[in-house]
Amino acid sequence: MKEKKRKKVSAESLKKAKNFLFFLRPYSLTYGIGFIFLIGSSSVSIAIPYLLGKILGMDPQAAGDGTWNWFDPESLYGVLSMIGLALPIQALFSFFRIYCFSIVTQNTLRDLRVKAYSALVGAPITFFDQNKVGELTSRVGTDLTLLQETLTTTIAEFIRQFIIIGIALTLVIYTSPALALTMLLVIPFVALSAVFFGKFIRKLSKQTQDEAAKSNGILEESLASIKSLKSFTNEWYEIARYGKATEAIRKVALKTAIWRGVFVAFILIVMFGSVVFIIWRGIELVKLGPENGGISSESFFQFIMMTVMIGASIGAVPDLLTKIQNAIGSTENLMDLINGDQEKINKTSAVTAIQLKGDITFEKVSFSYPSRPEVKVLDELSFEAKAGEQIAIVGSSGGGKSTIANLILQFYKIDGGNIYFDGKPASNYDLSALRAEMAYVPQEIILLGGTIEENIRYGKPDATFEEIKAAARKANALQFIDEFPDGFETLVGDRGIQLSGGQRQRVAIARAILKNPSILILDEATSALDSSSETLVQEAINELMKGRTSIVIAHRLSTLKNADQIIVLDNGKIIESGSHEELVGKPEGAFNKLKQLQEH
Ligand code: ADP
Ligand code: MG
Repeated sequence: MKEKKRKKVSAESLKKAKNFLFFLRPYSLTYGIGFIFLIGSSSVSIAIPYLLGKILGMDPQAAGDGTWNWFDPESLYGVLSMIGLALPIQALFSFFRIYCFSIVTQNTLRDLRVKAYSALVGAPITFFDQNKVGELTSRVGTDLTLLQETLTTTIAEFIRQFIIIGIALTLVIYTSPALALTMLLVIPFVALSAVFFGKFIRKLSKQTQDEAAKSNGILEESLASIKSLKSFTNEWYEIARYGKATEAIRKVALKTAIWRGVFVAFILIVMFGSVVFIIWRGIELVKLGPENGGISSESFFQFIMMTVMIGASIGAVPDLLTKIQNAIGSTENLMDLINGDQEKINKTSAVTAIQLKGDITFEKVSFSYPSRPEVKVLDELSFEAKAGEQIAIVGSSGGGKSTIANLILQFYKIDGGNIYFDGKPASNYDLSALRAEMAYVPQEIILLGGTIEENIRYGKPDATFEEIKAAARKANALQFIDEFPDGFETLVGDRGIQLSGGQRQRVAIARAILKNPSILILDEATSALDSSSETLVQEAINELMKGRTSIVIAHRLSTLKNADQIIVLDNGKIIESGSHEELVGKPEGAFNKLKQLQEH
């Protein structure tokens, strides 16, 4: 059981929430107009019960002789006509209030969504190592929903309650200071004790939930490991453990129930007691009559109506406060995300292209992942790939092969040493331009939801269809694409057809061919394939590698005969390197040992 933590509102979170105002600023005029309508509709909403109270208190015989005295406050029909006017005004004000606030909210949310998305895709890979994607998307979703509700209704409601309380209180004091004083002595006491009691009971309910979670934990645990439970014949032990846990729930729940009962009893007595008390005081004053310092029956009914309004408004405030508090927490999350670390990438389509030859040099590169700084993944690693060469990296799993790919792609900052491209340090290049010169084909290709054509076009957004087709042909993909009834228009991904691993790989290779990079990185691109599709993909890869510097991380050592250099990696260090011929020539060498392991 996971409960959403309610953050305390601190000075810092308020400062971040203030950053949020930046997003509201462009729409502040509309928001202001909305507020005017809000004040208007709230004020009018008090007029209605006020006028109703007046009618209720009127002497029915005297009040209406059937003639319409428009807007005469002393006549039944006069007051009715006032109410008749107030209703449409209020309706109109409310409509425009909602409309204005919605315009502001939707505009702000659109801006926020785009900003948050752009911050997410612009975040460095380390950010995604530290945050789970599922949690991230659901958190951003929840935060945005909460903000939407806050901007459209919660803030408006909050302010409305205060307008109502303010005006109604003024009216109450104006109609009868004596009765108002009585009420003001009673209501805050009742309200405060209700809030206090409510908090106490919520704490008890929380305890009940915690106990329930504990017993659920036992249940899940023992069912998940039911085989070992049974093999140890520990049923009796688990039953006793579970019994204890459920007994704890019962105890806390009963304690909660007793206090809840006391609370209800208390509220009944105090609330109704005070209502009866106020009404009794009121009747006394009515009996006295306005001439003798008392009040009229009209004033009395208005007083009751206003008091009901005040009570309802006060009751609504704590809930609204909680919501606003949560919303401040949400803005804080969003602002943290939006103002979080960003890669120095180009977020417009205009990337100044560079032309790399494709020399790559690692010079004593040391690296640890930021999430695990104590583990040295690469230890002063050096190698050199000349433009157009094919460098194979092999070695046991966990040795750091994929890490090298990550570092060439500039996904992480290195801790020591240097990485050069065409003899210049990586930091000399614009990050987007540098990556535009690379293509990366991993083991598992996840295609975008869209057509095959769109997926290939990803490599070069302005490619013509002819170019796409040519790339597909070179990637050995044209044949299977043509076999689909919809050809290049075939939908793939979640909502489309499922391509086989080898087909996806060839689409990815076509994409890379279209991109025409000078550096190619293949991370076990063929290891998940069966041998028949591996042949097709390997052919496509050979085509793709022509004329580029290729870093080939390979699982199957038999495919490496053409490599210019093979690097054997173990625990972040190069333990052997050379051409295929050289390495095969060392009977006791690491490469041969790996090879033997694979053959047997
Ligand atoms: P290989 O590709 O050779 O199998 P990797 O380069 O993927 O090995 O991993 C090298 C080491 O780095 C392993 O110990 C692995 O656990 C660790 N590692 C890989 N990726 C991460 C990551 N994102 N965060 C922390 N540690 C990682
Ligand atoms: Mg790997």
